[in-house]
Amino acid sequence: MRGLWLLALVVAASFSRPATAAPSGFQLQKPIACTIGHDCFIQQYPDHDPGPAAKDYRCGIATYDGHDGTDFRIPDKAAQMRGVNVVAAGAGVVRAIRDGQPDFDAGAFDKARVEGVECGNGVLIEHGNGWQTQYCHMRQGSIRVKAGDRVEAGQPLGLVGQSGGAEFPHLHLTVRHDGKWLDPFADGAACGQGQSLWRAEDRAELVYRDGDVLNAGFAAGPVTMDDIERGGIAQPARGSAALVVYIRALHLHAGDIQRITIKGPDGQTLADSAAPALDHDKAQSMVFAGKKRAGPGWPAGTYTATYTVIRSGRTVLSKTLSLKE
Ligand SMILES: [Zn+2]
Repeated sequence: MRGLWLLALVVAASFSRPATAAPSGFQLQKPIACTIGHDCFIQQYPDHDPGPAAKDYRCGIATYDGHDGTDFRIPDKAAQMRGVNVVAAGAGVVRAIRDGQPDFDAGAFDKARVEGVECGNGVLIEHGNGWQTQYCHMRQGSIRVKAGDRVEAGQPLGLVGQSGGAEFPHLHLTVRHDGKWLDPFADGAACGQGQSLWRAEDRAELVYRDGDVLNAGFAAGPVTMDDIERGGIAQPARGSAALVVYIRALHLHAGDIQRITIKGPDGQTLADSAAPALDHDKAQSMVFAGKKRAGPGWPAGTYTATYTVIRSGRTVLSKTLSLKE
């Protein structure tokens, strides 16, 4: 019965729009035990567009039509298996939970299998005065609270997973007031005008980031999106046939140019490769560049790689990584 109740609430919420204004005083803390921009990332914000288009609270592209919550994404399945805690965003009472839904493997998401259980394994907390938070897509078997439990802000509820309607491991957090969902980053207005519900000490970390590098590393050959999603890609050895650098980035824009430059221990350029300008906005984008081995082995020393994203002639995102052979 609890599962059914949670489902009814999810369906009802997906057809409502954000509440226009919330009484002040209610504050939330970051609902996940990782550092935004370092080992977790915001993949999608709530949608502020009332029509079929979509815009996030800064009128940016990091959302999709009808998205009623915030997606906190972890880098890969390896991170999911190590375990990242989902924590209560505020004190309250657990109203309902669901567990027992399987987590999808990398690249194996099947929408048809999650109809009616889109939230996957989840927790619903009542905070009083009409405020609720709901946590979705948690790891199967990880939920450690039950209906009726009183929880403190920051208390672990379970682990980030990929259950329900989740194409990658992440926590989806929906915030509701009087049954209507709203955006904790900007309640009541879009384009940066709304009121933040995040507590003061979390706001710097939760600052809006228009683009991020989700994964970056060296590999011994070409990699696929599923390889990156699984994580644990082996680094090249001195005798590897190739030396490759891969990057997966978030929230790139149409027209963005991504460039990877790799330099060897002697400072010589081994690869310098620019991908064609993106023809549309991308929630995530994967690129790699590299070089085949010419001699008997890769010379010892430190290899460095630089990834840059150029937008309208300006560098808007960059990352440097190195490998010691
Ligand atoms: Zn979501």
